[in-house]
This record gives sequence, C-alpha cells and structure tokens, in this order.
Amino acid sequence: MSAEPASNPFLAPSDLPYGLPPFADIRIEHYRPAFEAGVREQLDEVEAVVTDPAEPTFENTLEALERSGRTLDRVLAVFYNLTSSMADDEMRALEAELAPRAAEHLDAIRLDPRLFARIDHVHARRDALAPEQQRLVERYHLDLTRAGAALPEEERARLRTLNSRLTTLTTDFGSRVLAEANDLAVHVTDRAQLDGLADNVVESAATAAADAGLEGWLLTLVLPTIQPAMSSLRDRGLRRRLHEAATTRGTRGGARDTRALVGEITALRAERAALLGYADHAAYVVADLTAGSTEAVLGILDEMAPPAVANLAVEQERLEQLMAADGVEGPLQPWDWAYYAARDLAATYDVDTDALKPWFELDRVLHDGIFAAATALYGVTFRERPDLQAYAADVRVFEVLDHDGSGLALFVCDWFARPTKRGGAWMSEFVEQSHLHGTRPVVVVCLNVPRPPAGQPALMTTDEVRTGFHEFGHALHGFFSDVTYPRLQGTAVPRDFVEFPSQVNEMWAWEPELLARYAVHHETGEPLPRETADRLVASRSHGQGFDTVSMLGAALLDQEWHRRGPDDPVVLPDDVEAFEAAALERHGVRCDLVPPRYRSAYFAHVFSGGYDAAYYSYLWSEVLDADTVDWFTEHGGLTRENGEVFRRELLSRGGSVDALEAFAAVRGRPPSTEPLLRRRGLLGASTASTATG
Ligand SMILES: [Zn+2]
Repeated sequence: MSAEPASNPFLAPSDLPYGLPPFADIRIEHYRPAFEAGVREQLDEVEAVVTDPAEPTFENTLEALERSGRTLDRVLAVFYNLTSSMADDEMRALEAELAPRAAEHLDAIRLDPRLFARIDHVHARRDALAPEQQRLVERYHLDLTRAGAALPEEERARLRTLNSRLTTLTTDFGSRVLAEANDLAVHVTDRAQLDGLADNVVESAATAAADAGLEGWLLTLVLPTIQPAMSSLRDRGLRRRLHEAATTRGTRGGARDTRALVGEITALRAERAALLGYADHAAYVVADLTAGSTEAVLGILDEMAPPAVANLAVEQERLEQLMAADGVEGPLQPWDWAYYAARDLAATYDVDTDALKPWFELDRVLHDGIFAAATALYGVTFRERPDLQAYAADVRVFEVLDHDGSGLALFVCDWFARPTKRGGAWMSEFVEQSHLHGTRPVVVVCLNVPRPPAGQPALMTTDEVRTGFHEFGHALHGFFSDVTYPRLQGTAVPRDFVEFPSQVNEMWAWEPELLARYAVHHETGEPLPRETADRLVASRSHGQGFDTVSMLGAALLDQEWHRRGPDDPVVLPDDVEAFEAAALERHGVRCDLVPPRYRSAYFAHVFSGGYDAAYYSYLWSEVLDADTVDWFTEHGGLTRENGEVFRRELLSRGGSVDALEAFAAVRGRPPSTEPLLRRRGLLGASTASTATG
C-alpha cells in the first residue's frame, strides 16, 4: 500500500511549533514511500556535491552535506523513536526491512571516494575556517577515514566483506544470547521456593510461565550475571539454579553456543583495525573517544582494581557473619552474595525502598524535583502545552522557556510503560537544534513507570526517580545545544562522554533542600523525614566493592579481547573460558565469588551491542561525573551561577569543541580520578561524605 505523495506528512516540513511532527496525520503506510523519497533526494543532493566542477570549499561540500537529507531525517527521527516506544508487529517488521537499508545508504555516501577527495581537499586548507567549521571538517574527515574511505579499492572491498561478515556474526551473537536466556529461564512448581520475592515479581513469574504454556512460575533471565531475584530469594537451592543458568549461557555446545562467535568476531575486528592502520581494535575504538588511548583506559581500570578487591574482602566478612547467624553452613557461594548483601543493606540503613513509594508521586517528582532543579540552575521554566499532541494519549508535551522567557525547546514526556515500548529508559530527539536549519530541539524522554490503576496516583521507586533525573540530564544537553551544524549538536559527543552530563544531573535527586520539596507523601502531605532521607542517601554507597569489581571485570575483559592483534591466533571455543580467566587474573580481579558483570559468552554489549572496546565508558563517565559533582559542591551546589558555567562551557557546546577541553573549562583542570575513587570507597576515606553522587 502506498500513499499519495501529496498526503504524506513526511514530505514537507511540519508547520507545528518547533517542527513537532504531525503525529495525528502519520500512518504506518507513510514511512516506506517517505523513506524511498528521502534516500533518492539525499543521493541526488550528494551527487550534485561530488560532481560540482568548482573547487571544493567548506560551503559547497561540508555545508552542502549538512543541508542534505532533510526528508530522510524527518522520517527516520519519527520512525526510530516510535520503533522503540510504540512498536507493534507491523512496525517491527518494517524496522527489520528499513534499518539495514538505512545503514547501506549511509555507507554508500561515506565510502564514495569522490566525496572523500573533496573533504580531504577542504581538510588540508582548514586553518582559515572558523573554529566550528574546522571542527566539522575534522569530524567528517575522521568519520570517513575511519570508515575506510581513504583506502585503495581492493582494501575497501576487503573492508566491506569484513563489515558484512561482522554484521552477520554480531547479529547472530545477539539472537543466540536471547534464545539462551529464554531456554534457561528457571521453572518453579513449588510456591514455597519463591519465598522472599515481592508479590508483583511472583505475579510476573506466573504470567511468564503461563505465556510459555507451563504450570507454576518462570524466572526469566536478564542480561547481567546477577539476576534481580537473587537478592530476595530465601531458597538457597533456587538461587544456585538461577546462578548456574545465568552463567552457563552460550557455553552449552550446540547451535546456541556463542564461543566460536567470540573467537571469530575478535579476529575479524583485529584484521579490520590493522587494515585501517591501528595496532588492534581497542586502539581503533579508543582513538576517537576522550580517554584517548588503551594505555590510559587500562591505567584507570588498573588503578581501581586493588582497592576494590580489598573492599570486597571486608564486605565478604560481613556477609559470612550474616550467613552464620542464619545457621547456614558455609562457605559463602556466588549465589549467596546478592542475598546477604541486601540483608546487610537493610540491617545497616534500615531502608525499605518499597515503603518509600508514597513519597515519590510522579507529577510532584517532575515539577518540584526535576523541573525545579533545572529552574534553580539554569533559570528555565516549563509550560505544559496540551494543545500539542504527541504519539500516545499519555505522552505530554511541555514548552521549555529560557531565563528571559523566550522559547527554547519542546520536552516530550513519555514516562509510562506500555506493551509496545521496549524496556529501560532513554532520551532521544524528534528535531535536533541547528542554526543552519533554524531548528530548535524537540527532545523526548522515555521511562517505564508502571501505569497506576485508574484514579490512583503514579508512585515511583527511588530508582525510577534517579533514572528520571538521569534522563533529564541528557535532555538538558539537547535543550541547551547552541551550534550551527547538526552533526555537532547537543549529545553528538564521544560515547565515553555522553553519559557524563546525565550522571551529573542525578546528584540533584538527593540534594537535601530539593528532596524536602519534592519527596512529599501523596496522601498526608508530610515531607519525607530528614532522618529517613539521610539513611536513603547514605545507603547508596553500600556494596561498592562488589559493584566495582564486577564492573572492572567486564571492562577489562572487553579491553583484553580487543587488544588482540591481527597475527594472534583465533581463540578456539574450548579456550574462551581460559582466556577469560587469564585476563582477569592478569589484572588482579579474578574472584570466584564475584564473576564479571557479563561473562564473554553473553557479553552482548561488546559482541553485539556497539560497546566493543568501550564498555569502560560507564566507569570513565563516572570519573568525569564524580569530579564535576565535587566542583558543584565546592561552589555552593544548586545555584544559577554554577548552572550558567556548566551550560555555557559544556552543555551548549555539543560536539563543536573538544569534549575534555569543555570539561576543563568548567573544572579548571583536566579530570581527576580521585573523586570517583573516594565515592566508591577506594581511597580508604568514608564513603558517606560523598553520598550525594
Ligand atoms: Zn544515560
């Protein structure tokens, strides 16, 4: 079915405020024809650039490229957002068809040698350009070089073969891990074994069993090694079954074993890196990130390892005491850790996070917490626009007004779970800020807060509150973007930098004055008692030894797999676990009681998820975050002055300046690892004093 072009809403710019997509007019049959038209339009535009007889200039090449593909941008922005937040089977089928075609389209442009020659010409003469223009030329030159555009034809052909094979292998890895998770879900027929689990978790397990055509309950597996149920299940035997199911994923032989894929993926990535002129894949990846070199990455990880392992020993002793007090015979096993750590947390801080939900009513968190923090820091205010319609009835649209009252952005607030939304939380954009296009941002934040029954308020867990502040930190990065070229806007920064502003914004969730304002009991109107708030905040630094060691294990494994050179022999399936053990041993984080957050055979982030050689980013962003939290704290916290500096020097710059230079402009110096080491209790100092992070 195809729509008449004249009636396809993607084929012309939206005339709604801020270019908000006309959701009410968009039908599924509009995507494919708009996609086709958009691809043709951009190929024509790029062809006009590469065949221009005039000498290549910034304007006729780079700026022309930035102006191209507007129709495709419009359709893909809506398409990719809705395949995440409103995808039925028909949408998913369309995604499977269009996503690879969009990737091929991008490659066709990036690997055109005529285009590279023009960009190379401008790049060689870039000194005379304005700073943001220089930055754009460098960005494109690097993007194309790293994609292989500068290689001779036969090497480009080999590169295309490698890319295509890697796409197949990594997709296969993801499917096998998913199939293993379903296959290894733990089936329980005796209700007594589920003792300790919250009622809603037991209900979900019953639903999962019914969906699978089974009697009883089914505990499905999540990706990390430690399964959520492990912290509350009293039945030790069931905890052991869960642990063994989780850790054997991908290693059981047969069609779902992933170990041969691990060997081949790492070998092909090493070959590709060598083709592109790098020592190994990790060097290739990290060269374009802010950490700069694999030596720097390993330096940070190795600095954290010994004190984290030392903390682990202290934690282990406490857990062993609790277990003995329970009358359970030792030794402590990996499947006991999460359970006794949760008991230790409850005993130490007397915090029952479920019982706190009445103090975290969604609207109050949004207005008096998240928006109020942004107003205090940046002077921005928020006005709901019920006249503007989003893509679902429960999605709200707010206009963001700058400190002078002028319109800055739209904020699309999509916080409730729905069956067609994927799990997790994220920020994305429908319209990106650009002075070139004269566009202001339309930012969306998706959360998965369960919808309350009709007539009841939506109450959030403290983790959902933290996530709300986190995602809003990404949204601020989008709102404040103040650049000319869309390739450099807002969140278009390196992967090991993009989580940093959002992690910083989490600090305001626990700021005492703000907390007193937004954590108010929805029935009694009583603020959360100060003493409870203090315990809640203090409890957040609990169990850091375990968390740090398991994160370090995963980050180091990722680095070691991707530091293999093109001449290293392929690691055979039977040797994958030995490789893993040796890698952990080498960095001093091999610990039978604390397996890595992901073991190689189900490490989907790096073998199918785009975090290859970059899993360390989570810890590195946290280094920047902890250091910046200290800066805010040293300068008086939640003030307009602090907000102005952070906005001007960092949030507004997007990718238009070097990320670490933007950091230094705020902090007054390069990043230091010390604040993070202190926060994670790795300096021997008290962790309670840094609990605001
Ligand atoms: Zn994030």
